[in-house]
Amino acid sequence: MKKISILIPCHNEEKSLPLLYPELVKLMDGHPDYEWELMFVNDGSKDGTLQELKRLRATDQRVNYIDLSRNFGKEVAMLAGFDYVTGDCMVIIDADLQHPPTLIPELIRWWEQGYDDVYAKRKTRGKESWLRKRLSLRFYKILQSSSRFEVLQNVGDFRLLDRCCINALRKMRESERYTKGMYSWIGFKKKDVEFEQGDRVAGESSWNYRQLFSFAIDGITSFTSAPLRISTVVGFVVSLLAFLYMIYVFIKALIWGDPVQGYPTLVILILFLGGIQLLSLGIIGEYIGRIYNETKNRPDYIVREFNDDKVVNQLEKLKD
Ligand code: UDP
Ligand code: MG
Repeated sequence: MKKISILIPCHNEEKSLPLLYPELVKLMDGHPDYEWELMFVNDGSKDGTLQELKRLRATDQRVNYIDLSRNFGKEVAMLAGFDYVTGDCMVIIDADLQHPPTLIPELIRWWEQGYDDVYAKRKTRGKESWLRKRLSLRFYKILQSSSRFEVLQNVGDFRLLDRCCINALRKMRESERYTKGMYSWIGFKKKDVEFEQGDRVAGESSWNYRQLFSFAIDGITSFTSAPLRISTVVGFVVSLLAFLYMIYVFIKALIWGDPVQGYPTLVILILFLGGIQLLSLGIIGEYIGRIYNETKNRPDYIVREFNDDKVVNQLEKLKD
C-alpha cells in the first residue's frame, strides 16, 4: 500500500487546527486504499497549538508532530517536515484551510499518472489587501526577469511531491531558504491543477509587510545573483557617462577657459555617485551576509520533541 504524508507547518494555529483536522480525517477515511500520515510541524507557536497537537495524537496515531524549539519560519519548518515524513509522496498544506484538502484527491490522481510535482495554482488570491497583491505581483515580475528558471505566479507551497522530489529537496540544506525557487530548481515532471483559494478560517496571517519584504529579498538573493550583475552594469554605464562628461569639461575649459563655476553639478555628481556606490555595497553585503550565515554551518532547525519524545540528539534519525 502506498503511503501519503501530509505536511502542515503551524504557527499559532490553535484556532484553525480543530477545523482543519476533521477535513483531513474526512479525506483519509474517504481513501482507505492508501496509508496516511499527518506531519504537523509546530513552528514555535505561542498559543495552545502544541497542546492541540498532543490531544490529536493521543486519539489518532496517524497524527505526528515535530515541535521546533522556537519559531524558525515557514520555510525552515517545511524542511523539518521534509526530513521527517515517511510517505511515498507528500502533500504540503497550510493549517488555515486556505488550501482546500478536497483538492488533494485530484493531486493524487495526477501523481498516480506519473507526475512527480503536482502543484496547485490559485485562480484567485483570497482576501488580501490591494497593496500586498500589487507588491507580490511586482516581486514575481522582478524575480522572473532576473533568472533562468521559470518562476510560477500564483503558485505557492500547496503541492504534492513524489519521494524523489522530497529527497532532492532534503539535499538542499541552505539556511536562508526560498523553497518556491527550489521546486523549480530541482526539475522533475510537473503538472498544474487550478484551485480557488479561500480565506483563512481562523487566527491571523503570520506575515507583516516587513517580513514579506525580507522574504522578497531572500527570494531574490537565494535564487539569482543578477543584482550583482546589475551593479556591474550600472557601474559601467556611469563610468562611460563620466568619461564623456570629462571630455566635454576638458574641451570646454580649453576653448572658453575655466572661471570656477559648476557647484550644483559637483554636488549632484557626488551625491548621485555616492548613492550608487552605497547601493552596490548594500547588494554585495546582502550576498556576503548570506555567505557568512551558510559558512557557520549550523543545523537548520532544532527539534524539541517528536511525537511525545524529547529529542536529545538532533538529526540522529536522519542519516537516510
Ligand atoms: N507558518 C509557519 N511559521 C511561520 C509563519 C507561518 O509555520 O513563521 C505557517 C502557518 O501556520 C500556516 C502557513 O505557514 O500554516 C501559512 O501562513 P499564513 O497563513 O500566515 O500565510 P499567508 O497565507 O498569509 O501567506
Ligand atoms: Mg494563510
